[in-house]
Amino acid sequence: MSKVPYPKTKYYKVKCASCNNEQIVFDSVKSTVKCNVCDEILAEPKGGKAQILGEIIEQYS
Ligand SMILES: [Zn+2]
Repeated sequence: MSKVPYPKTKYYKVKCASCNNEQIVFDSVKSTVKCNVCDEILAEPKGGKAQILGEIIEQYS
């Protein structure tokens, strides 16, 4: 039996354009990600990956 490698999940630290809140957004989102503070949309699912709409400050992998 061979092990299936666990897919690495990338994630981003995204800054909200409206209120400057910073929050973590994963690369694979299934629903719209909103800012925890002001409800601005930070990311939308697109083709199985997140389309980041806010400002990406850092990227982790
Ligand atoms: Zn916000």
